[in-house]
Amino acid sequence: MHVDVLVVGAGAAGLTLGADLARRGVRALVVERSAGLFPGSRGKGIQPRTLEVFDDLGVLDAILAAGGPYPTRMLWQDGRRLGEQRMWDEEDVQEGSPFHEPWMVPQWRTQEILFARLTELGGSVAFGRELVGLTQDEDGVTAEFAAGPPVRARYAVAADGGRSTVRRLLGIGMTGETVDPDPVLVADVRITGLDRDNWHVFPPAEGQGFLALCPLAGTEDFQVAAQMPEGGPAIDLSLEGLRAVIAARSHLDPADVTEVRWASDFRPRAAMADRFREGRVFLVGDAAHVHSPAGGQGLNTSVQDAYNLGWKLAAVLSGTARESLLGTYEEERLPVAADVLGLSTRIHRGEARRGAATRQLGLGYRGSSLAVETRTALPAESLRAGDRAPDGAWEGARLFDAFRGPHWTLLLVGPAPEASVRGARTVRIPSYGAYGDGVFLVRPDGYVGWAGETAEGAEEYAARVGAVREVEGRP
Ligand SMILES: Cc1cc2nc3c(=O)[nH]c(=O)nc-3n(C[C@H](O)[C@H](O)[C@H](O)COP(=O)(O)OP(=O)(O)OC[C@H]3O[C@@H](n4cnc5c(N)ncnc54)[C@H](O)[C@@H]3O)c2cc1C
Repeated sequence: MHVDVLVVGAGAAGLTLGADLARRGVRALVVERSAGLFPGSRGKGIQPRTLEVFDDLGVLDAILAAGGPYPTRMLWQDGRRLGEQRMWDEEDVQEGSPFHEPWMVPQWRTQEILFARLTELGGSVAFGRELVGLTQDEDGVTAEFAAGPPVRARYAVAADGGRSTVRRLLGIGMTGETVDPDPVLVADVRITGLDRDNWHVFPPAEGQGFLALCPLAGTEDFQVAAQMPEGGPAIDLSLEGLRAVIAARSHLDPADVTEVRWASDFRPRAAMADRFREGRVFLVGDAAHVHSPAGGQGLNTSVQDAYNLGWKLAAVLSGTARESLLGTYEEERLPVAADVLGLSTRIHRGEARRGAATRQLGLGYRGSSLAVETRTALPAESLRAGDRAPDGAWEGARLFDAFRGPHWTLLLVGPAPEASVRGARTVRIPSYGAYGDGVFLVRPDGYVGWAGETAEGAEEYAARVGAVREVEGRP
């Protein structure tokens, strides 16, 4: 079988990339070793920047309908409520950012929604296909599977999670540390006699770890997180095991826990692959970096890796961009992953709070070779090439409505002279502080690629990075 892109793993990253490639008309195949989609709630926090990505991919309404806002934390002690605790610093609502708080959706549901979008766009996932071998040559990649025929592809993407087989086959090392030696039991359970208005937190009593019971928006389940002792007995993931842990650490009776829908355990780690690319193979998501779940960054960073890579693969495969564009994936995402990793670890250790940084709206690519800023003497806080392109009002609609889709956008702000760039959609708005006056070429993934006082030089830039044919004939 021949495809353009083989995506290994149908987790959050693989499904996002599959959907993005499908809407760009790329022949891609997502292969997944399991018989179906992952059933657990683990990455339940969708950050504001990821909500914007999901808006562009056409799944925002489904994500919003499937979830809800985070409930406030309630601290308990000896069967009494001690009081509520806010989880993150409040953020003022700003015109440029439609979302300012994380939205809770259990990961299994997010993946169902991404999978539905992928199939709606004509893409597919081959379940029960475990990749066991990978070789590459000048023209492509050949993947071998535990069962079924090999697949030949021009490029492959490892979206196969923290224990990535592809990463191992490529010989790419993973450097990092254990964030916490104590394992954490995580499970989705049904509980009676506990309200769903709060995320219930039971601080550790002498000799025990913490227990947290979070009502999962849009479901009847609670997500259990329980810190277990390092070097203790094997963690019992059965109904009886969960009943024992929950009853020992809270006021609940064992019988209040009525069902276990999914259970697992993990040891919080922070590690990053030494490279995000080897020839024709790219690493995205947990295959490239694993985080502590504190701060809710893992799934979000994984989705955004895929979103950074999708348009670049499409531009190179369609022949509009040179192969070198693919080099900017690692150039842009590796520093972001390193920063996010450090942040997750600091939050886990109580050295940093959840707030502006965890929302991921400030992440950008100013240092990238794709960021070309031609204006000089800009005030320090100005938007620059490489920054995320903010939302705003546009002809009775929103700028994000204009950006939505696989195209580039030429944004003329204020008195900027009329201009156009072949392959880009032109949009004009009056002077707007979030941008400042000028001309901005907005990438398909919503970052300012090029900025100037006039459009002089924008056309050359667009041709260099492959903007041109990407839009023509593909609305
Ligand atoms: C308890 C917990 C809580 C978390 N909370 C959050 C949170 O609030 N917010 C957040 O952003 N993140 C959170 N995370 C992290 C998040 O779950 C991960 O970062 C995310 O799942 C990574 O997505 P992925 O697609 O890269 O990998 P995965 O979701 O691991 O998907 C990899 C897929 O590849 C498949 N696969 C593996 N090997 C092969 C192979 N050889 N062949 C074919 N297929 C293969 C697997 O079966 C799997 O389906 C949490 C994680 C945990 C454990």
